[in-house]
Amino acid sequence: MTKLFETTWSDIARAGARLGLTTDALGSLAEPSRIVEVGIPLTKDDGTTQTVRGWRVQHSNARGPFKGGVRFHPHVQVDDVKNLALLMTLKCAVVDIPFGGAKGGVSIDPRTLSRSELERLSRGYVRQIEPLIGPWTDIPAPDVGSGEETMAWMVDEYSMLSHSFTPAAFTGKPVATGGSRGRRAATGYGGFDVLEVVQSELGAPLKRVAVEGFGNVGYHFAEKAAEQGMTLVGVSDIHDAVTNPGGLDPAQVLKSKLATGRVAGAGGHEVSHSALLAMDTDVLVLAAIEHSVTARNADSIRAKVVLELGNNSVSAEAGETLAKKGILVIPDILANAGGVVASYFEWTQNLQGYYWTEADVLSKVRDKLHVAARDVFAVRDEHTVNLRTAAQMLALERLMAAMPHHAATPRLTPVNV
Ligand code: GLU
Repeated sequence: MTKLFETTWSDIARAGARLGLTTDALGSLAEPSRIVEVGIPLTKDDGTTQTVRGWRVQHSNARGPFKGGVRFHPHVQVDDVKNLALLMTLKCAVVDIPFGGAKGGVSIDPRTLSRSELERLSRGYVRQIEPLIGPWTDIPAPDVGSGEETMAWMVDEYSMLSHSFTPAAFTGKPVATGGSRGRRAATGYGGFDVLEVVQSELGAPLKRVAVEGFGNVGYHFAEKAAEQGMTLVGVSDIHDAVTNPGGLDPAQVLKSKLATGRVAGAGGHEVSHSALLAMDTDVLVLAAIEHSVTARNADSIRAKVVLELGNNSVSAEAGETLAKKGILVIPDILANAGGVVASYFEWTQNLQGYYWTEADVLSKVRDKLHVAARDVFAVRDEHTVNLRTAAQMLALERLMAAMPHHAATPRLTPVNV
């Protein structure tokens, strides 16, 4: 079994070395501040009960409260959650928002549960981690397998437990229960915002794009890209992959996905998944689960630019192969940061009790991402490194500036955890 956390950490330690930072200097970043494992009792609709494993990993709060999503996935393990928590610490630092990094995981396939079972599970998870979280300690959000409704249940449970309406304890909520306008589209649109900077750095237009993964993130990216004049030449989901050199219409693909659960049926030719990844296109967007591109298929990739909208979509080894082939990989901690940046604006709106328009939120997200992307390119040029290393170095510089003034994880409230 590959140890994701260890692999990511050695990559980061290498980026640290380029800044002259020893492993000692990186100090507390080498391990999460806190790992909590819980058993969530779940009563099924048929009256039977089972215990579902879950985790909350708080990696670092040197720059602000812990922040990160909760993943519902049947194969999620503590190592994945640790790895994703570390990526959150880096991501928040790259885009310079005042948060640390955390992640939650619940080992379940949410598609096997009824809506009421999912609600009980979501509320049960919050009851288990309640002493650890809160608007100024740790702010969970959606991730793979969870979504707006999950957050609505979670924030409601948290508000009940804390005897007060506390919307700022979670982000990614529905607008009706304190969510931010624009949050839903922000990760996908944000990927496009980053691509705008990439395009200006390359000095050449990027016209054709293929999108792997057509969930919320993949769809919103495709919508924005098509609206801005790019041609969507291919798209895939877990079932199918379709291509059309003349261009697919993201709205039609979404329609077919909603009607049949599949992307096939909106025009185009069906191809294999690996053929989609190997398309000769300007941009390949990876918006699926981890490790779409690994040593196994890295050689086949032909896009000019790979945009990592999923976390760890390109394995470390594959990243090296792509770099040798001259393919520019836009790393996850920059490319998919639009979601957490919008979460930051959701949190600030909750704290001030004053809400902005969708256009306001999205333009604030775009500004943040443009600055972050330019910062990453500047580090790349200064140190002659690839963009992943540059993003890691930028994050480490910002974290190191905060660490000397940082003592430890906040004390827990006096309960047993
Ligand atoms: N799960 C998302 C991510 O990996 C969003 C996290 C958040 O908004 O806190 O970036």
